[in-house]
Amino acid sequence: MTEQKNLFNVDPEPWLLDDMDDFQTASIVFAEAPYGPYEYIIPSDWSSRVAKGMRVRVPLGRGSRKVMGYCIEINAGQQKSRSFDRSKLRDIAAIVDEAPLVNDSLLELAKWISEQYLCPLGTVIETIVPAGVRTKAGTREIAFLSVPNQVVAKLTQLQLPKKQAEALKILSASSSPLTVDQLADAAGCSAAPIKSLCEKKLIHVDLERVHQNDHDLKPRRIEADLELNPAQQSALDQISQVVRDQASETIVLHGITGSGKTEVYIRAIQEVIEHGRQAIVLVPEISLTPQTRQRFRARFKRVAVMHSHLTPSERHWHWQQIANGQIEVVVGARSAVFAPLPRLGIIVIDEEHDGSFKQDKAPRYHARDVARKRSELARIPLVLGSATPSLESYHLAKAGDYKLIRLPHRALNRPLPDVSTIDLRTEFASKSHRGAISRPLQNAMKEALSQDGQVILLLNRRGFATSIQCPSCGYVVECPNCDIALTHHQDSNRAVCHYCDYMIPSPVRCSQCDYEGIRFSGLGTQKLEAEVKSRFPNDACLRMDSDTMQRIGSHEEALDRFRNGEIKILLGTQMIAKGLDFPNVTLVGVINADTALHLPDFRAAERTFCLVTQVAGRTGRGDKGGRVLVQTFNPENPTIQAAEQHDFERFAEQEIPEREQFGYPPFRQLARIVVRGESEVFAGAFATQIGEELRKRIKVSGDDIRVLGPAAAPINKLRGKYRFHLFASGADGELLRRMIAEVTGQLRTPNEIQWIVDIDPLDML
Ligand code: ADP
Ligand code: ZN
Repeated sequence: MTEQKNLFNVDPEPWLLDDMDDFQTASIVFAEAPYGPYEYIIPSDWSSRVAKGMRVRVPLGRGSRKVMGYCIEINAGQQKSRSFDRSKLRDIAAIVDEAPLVNDSLLELAKWISEQYLCPLGTVIETIVPAGVRTKAGTREIAFLSVPNQVVAKLTQLQLPKKQAEALKILSASSSPLTVDQLADAAGCSAAPIKSLCEKKLIHVDLERVHQNDHDLKPRRIEADLELNPAQQSALDQISQVVRDQASETIVLHGITGSGKTEVYIRAIQEVIEHGRQAIVLVPEISLTPQTRQRFRARFKRVAVMHSHLTPSERHWHWQQIANGQIEVVVGARSAVFAPLPRLGIIVIDEEHDGSFKQDKAPRYHARDVARKRSELARIPLVLGSATPSLESYHLAKAGDYKLIRLPHRALNRPLPDVSTIDLRTEFASKSHRGAISRPLQNAMKEALSQDGQVILLLNRRGFATSIQCPSCGYVVECPNCDIALTHHQDSNRAVCHYCDYMIPSPVRCSQCDYEGIRFSGLGTQKLEAEVKSRFPNDACLRMDSDTMQRIGSHEEALDRFRNGEIKILLGTQMIAKGLDFPNVTLVGVINADTALHLPDFRAAERTFCLVTQVAGRTGRGDKGGRVLVQTFNPENPTIQAAEQHDFERFAEQEIPEREQFGYPPFRQLARIVVRGESEVFAGAFATQIGEELRKRIKVSGDDIRVLGPAAAPINKLRGKYRFHLFASGADGELLRRMIAEVTGQLRTPNEIQWIVDIDPLDML
């Protein structure tokens, strides 16, 4: 190793003199406090083995406790700019990985996340690397058999023993390659004739290394490209241009439901792969159905699907395959944005407005913003697709920061369904009709079902009755841990807290005044289900919400039964609003469009518009057309009206000026600080103290930062802890984050208090 020369003619510090031989140090960060970074000496015989992105074990604190940490930087010990006192540093105790777990560009991304979301770097890296990456999982090789074309051509001329001839005939007729077992099964023979055919080179063998417990080991059904319509073609051309330019442009693909966005993604990805690069496709967790997987597996050879039910060893296996460059396309939920593809060429986010792209624990990152940064670092396009783009993305597109591409028509030119509202005020006034389903909706359901159509009903509240109240004294049964009314669940006859899962047997008498005849009111999906069953006893009905869909696979199973027509009426929470493509659905009913409209959240209107539009998009996908009936107490509400007209632009034009006026995103960056503690008084006082510190700081610096609160959070008590929150906003996000980091960094937090900072919060409750 060459000695580093001092650029300036300055004598070295005296304590460095006896140690003039070079040494290297590593900056190490930790996933838990104290987070570091701290410097450690790399023992000289390890100097070539330690690299950025690897894990090491180092002594931490007093004593000899060894802790796992991540190396984020290698430094020469004598660089003048950062001389380290060798005698004060300790040695790295052990190297954990032989190769870096995160490559340089992911490390760069991790540093950005750490700064952006005010989260220690070690915690960020721990999030990026899946837990199972350490376990080495077994793999095995599987042979996929096919018949070469030249053999097919002379099939009839071959003189073969009967069993071999039969096996060869079956294999040549198969539309996709078969495994030995599959072929033996189909031909009713043993493996021996197949082996002979292989030896005679009449069968081509393709070896693929597959994971022992790979669930997706089915022969792929290959599908051909569709012929793009002009709007799709133009969208593809524009994206391709960005691919060729190697630019880091962000493209908002605003395409109405059923406009064929997926086909555009697929073609853009094909182009990227032809350039020798790879792709990431992010979808909401709920959309990771076998249908979605199949759509990508039918078009690409090497697809890795990262869903939440993977075991740690499967995750590890995927990670290795991806890092080795063996995967062309990674399809996954939020965390797939960290997939270590070596030559990433494009990132696509489908349903980019979806709230599941934001992580609700530290680091509280939004995959859309991380993807944006990753695309900048890699100089590749980022495609954000949605029928209802987030106002953040849409505003940036309108302002010219992003490219805006529209798909204004449905593929195949089917019209959008007719949407009309039903005024629940007049329905309730008439008194002749009780229940959740109004007369016009009931009639429409009858009509749709009699014409062999299927029906979807959306109600965004699970349970049976959403409140349990004593009609005599007015007492409402609440959770003792949370400030929330308990929901009555009919099937288990329990009253359940939807926040902490606290449960008691549903009461029959009031615990306060002893009145017998407590009332279960408010409408949940269970009650709706009971009503549907009594009104439509002859049509099979299925409820889909997180209570019925807890078992792995139950979601897919339910959708299969709906798809094959066994189920006529599908009802459920927002779970049924997204992405489903069932041509036979001719009616969608929204039971109550107002459930989200009046929440104390500046995105309440956006959520409502989005939910109604998305669920409306589930119909009118086949030849029979479709219609949507929206029950509401607010038919003249502008958000409901815009949804009725399928008019996203109109909605955005109403909403964006309001965001600007009140200083909400996308105009100012928002940060939310939540303080919680067992004592309402202490938690409130600590929140007040944070508010005062922030305001003091602003007064001194004169920065354009606004602070709101503290106030009791809308969910004032959760899991036994009182909660207060405050908001800070700034037109300059960096300034805002720096100030919050400074102020929170100096807080002396009492033991019984916890606080978090959420940058760009989605959850306001
Ligand atoms: P989106 O994702 O925009 O809601 P999809 O990609 O699911 O729309 O497409 C809706 C339907 O239209 C799918 O069944 C798809 O196969 C079909 N489709 C899309 N593009 C074309 C095309 N160019 N020609 C024929 N069918 C198409
Ligand atoms: Zn609770």
